[in-house]
Amino acid sequence: MGSPERIKNVAKRVAKWKAAGYQLVVVPSAMSGETNRLISLAKEITSDPDSRELDMVCASGEQVSAGLLAMALKAQGVPAKSYCGWQVPIKSDNSFTKARIQSIDDTKVRKDLKEGFVVIITGFQGVTDEGDITTLGRGGSDTSAVAVAAALKAEECLIYTDVDGVYTTDPRVVPEARRLQKITFEEMLEMASLGSRVLQIRSVEFAGKYRVKTRVLSSLTDPLMPLEQEANSGTLITFEEEFKDKDIMEQAVVSGIAFSRDEAKITLVGVPDRPGIAYQILGPVAEANIDVDVIIQNTSTNGFTDFSFTVTRTEYAKALEVMKGVQAHLGAREIIGDTKVCKVSIVGIGMKSHVGVASTMFRCLSEEGINIQMISTSEIKTSVVIEDKYMELAVRALHRAFGLDQPA
Ligand code: ASP
Ligand code: MG
Repeated sequence: MGSPERIKNVAKRVAKWKAAGYQLVVVPSAMSGETNRLISLAKEITSDPDSRELDMVCASGEQVSAGLLAMALKAQGVPAKSYCGWQVPIKSDNSFTKARIQSIDDTKVRKDLKEGFVVIITGFQGVTDEGDITTLGRGGSDTSAVAVAAALKAEECLIYTDVDGVYTTDPRVVPEARRLQKITFEEMLEMASLGSRVLQIRSVEFAGKYRVKTRVLSSLTDPLMPLEQEANSGTLITFEEEFKDKDIMEQAVVSGIAFSRDEAKITLVGVPDRPGIAYQILGPVAEANIDVDVIIQNTSTNGFTDFSFTVTRTEYAKALEVMKGVQAHLGAREIIGDTKVCKVSIVGIGMKSHVGVASTMFRCLSEEGINIQMISTSEIKTSVVIEDKYMELAVRALHRAFGLDQPA
């Protein structure tokens, strides 16, 4: 939704789907840069704008888009009607700037659809029981779209964005990265939370919970591209059952390589090893509202052990402060902090049914001479913490080792 020209293109795309007989609800986000502009405007008034009023301001970006898109459609002869979140209504809680959708009343929308309208509903917006306007956090239009699709039991939710799908890893790090045709909700959550920022994470959680097939596809293609072709482009985020067919089973065991540089490691050296030690170390961290990710406790020698965990770099200083208190209390010998670490993960539902996947990962890293500092595993993911200067090397090597590189 970058310019009037782009909005007319969106209308052409919508008209194409409508002409093919689909009932459509369109959820536009603000014109590009608009939300940032509105936030800076608020910050020029005060460095710490009231969150209720900030939502009042930021929600306006989507209102403009929705109205303009409805006009563009009408100008092309397609009956359309736009609504703000509160008019539907899309009810949310009252955590302004990061509200969560609670319910969507589909009455008006269904009636309009039946009467042949394309319904346009602002993304990003909700309304509280008290009638206050809320927004759903940055990138929240993704979640609005999935939630509307869930409420209407839509066939598919198509998210047109500035990338053409979900890749096996970030193509800026591995130029050979490939676009995935399909990925499960679970895998997408792991990929998204580990740094491939294609969709708002909450929208993927929502899609998984309400089983909304969601397709990520490019908004930059020709709007008049044949519908059949467009409908199969991008990446479909879907249920595991959809992967049971033969061609997909032959797909690689690992679907993608995720990574994050936003990691820091803290080690408590020489901790007396007795029951309750993990709680005494990590309890205060949790109380300080700091998220802990990977955790390792070594086997003890002579009644003492070392205990390590990772946090995000932004919370590192705070976590270190907390550890100073813990150290004094437990009589631990030393605290070692390290912000030069990163996390690299292999992700794939194929790991559930294949053994030896993790060992392939470890062999690959050892062949590159990369030392693994910590390991954590789940059913569909194995992560390692390594020195951050090796991150790109590790990602590229793993991408190749698991056969994810594009054929030359
Ligand atoms: N306009 C909002 C933002 O920029 C919501 C969205 O685009 O998804 O974060
Ligand atoms: Mg967005």
